[in-house]
Amino acid sequence: MLNQREILAALERRISVGSGFALLAVRVCDLRDVAIRHGAQRGEQAEADAERLIRESLRPVDEAFRAGDELFAVILPDLPARNHALLAATRLFKSFERPLRGDGVPWQGRLRIGAAFFPQDGGDADTLWRRAQMAKQHAARRGEPCGFYEVRESRIDIDYDELRESIESNRLRAYFQPLWDLRARRIVGVESLARWTTARQEIVPPDQFVPFAEQSDLIVALTHWSINATFRHAAALGKSDLGIAINLSARAVARGGVTEQLRDALSIWGIAPTSVIAEFTETALVEDFDRTVRTLRQLRDLGMRVAIDDFGTGYASLMYLSRFPATDLKIDKTLIEPIGLDARAARLAESIIQLAHRLDMTTTAEGIADANTDRLLMEMGCDYGQGFHLGAPQPADKFIERFCAETVG
Ligand code: C2E
Ligand code: CA
Ligand code: CA
Repeated sequence: MLNQREILAALERRISVGSGFALLAVRVCDLRDVAIRHGAQRGEQAEADAERLIRESLRPVDEAFRAGDELFAVILPDLPARNHALLAATRLFKSFERPLRGDGVPWQGRLRIGAAFFPQDGGDADTLWRRAQMAKQHAARRGEPCGFYEVRESRIDIDYDELRESIESNRLRAYFQPLWDLRARRIVGVESLARWTTARQEIVPPDQFVPFAEQSDLIVALTHWSINATFRHAAALGKSDLGIAINLSARAVARGGVTEQLRDALSIWGIAPTSVIAEFTETALVEDFDRTVRTLRQLRDLGMRVAIDDFGTGYASLMYLSRFPATDLKIDKTLIEPIGLDARAARLAESIIQLAHRLDMTTTAEGIADANTDRLLMEMGCDYGQGFHLGAPQPADKFIERFCAETVG
């Protein structure tokens, strides 16, 4: 597509800055119609007029791009709050209120706007741009001029055969998100997160296809894919000493064979077991307690670390905490996100950190989305951290390329 690459590059630049921004997909309806009725030259003029109107209603820090047929992309950085994107949209609507004369027939563009936000609605350029466009389409379907992206809009029907085919033909991709040592201020590991792009080019987040796979036998193939894709990339990291965290579904553990799969993959890819962190969600752990504890012990005996994931969201009683042979506790983002605003939430997080330390576990805080949260957790003695503020998930090969360039250079 026309300027797609330019838009994605601009988004990636913004994402690498790390602070939040809004992305608008702006459709100027009837632009095509001008060209059809009055000729290509008049159409080109109308498009240029539309672009000028958009630019004039923006702030100097904002960026605007032609994105193709009747479509423009607008990046709005440094917004004090989500609703300020609505103010920008209102300014855009206003500037299109009067008909444009130019040198020919008067013409008036009608706008349809969709908004997506970094980092809430997606950690990478492609996802954000798709979601802004989805928000626009959904607004149109509701008969509204403007809409924000909502999570439920992304729900798609998952097709069993398509997912199976995608796993078998390696159409899934591993993304790596950095894990930081909060005191030493350096990257000490990565968490591997799966992404699936369907044949229709929809990006399905793991929250949707992992539970789907768990309900069928596909979880076996998915776990196999996930272990091998993660270790294949990890092998490219060489002797970097980075920890490699991998999410293991409890359903996969319940079906057996995970320990063997991990052991085989470690030897195929030449990965030291001591660099692997196997993550299990807290809820999953209690489903089949004895069997899970046995598996965790086997992984520990192989030399791996074992993390309790999403701590604070499940139903595990604290008693379980002392009985799981876990080495790491990952505190869920819902407990971390409010600590900058809510003193009681902060005391709760601090107490969990102390509790984990008393049980000889290291702590990782998830969902660190700003510098203040980062600082508070460091002061509380939290060991590791992960979140959009420290680094969003990115394609594993891209992460490795950058990481190696930075550590060598
Ligand atoms: P998780 O293990 O809790 O992974 C962390 C999730 O939080 C990721 O979502 C990540 O993109 C997101 N995240 C990272 N930083 C922030 C932040 O600052 N704020 C917020 N609000 N979120 C942040 P993602 O990639 O969509 O993964 C969702 C879940 O899917 C994961 O949750 C994990 O349980 C599961 N999953 C992902 N990949 C795999 C896989 O290969 N196998 C299995 N079994 N499960 C997977
Ligand atoms: Ca995890
Ligand atoms: Ca988690």
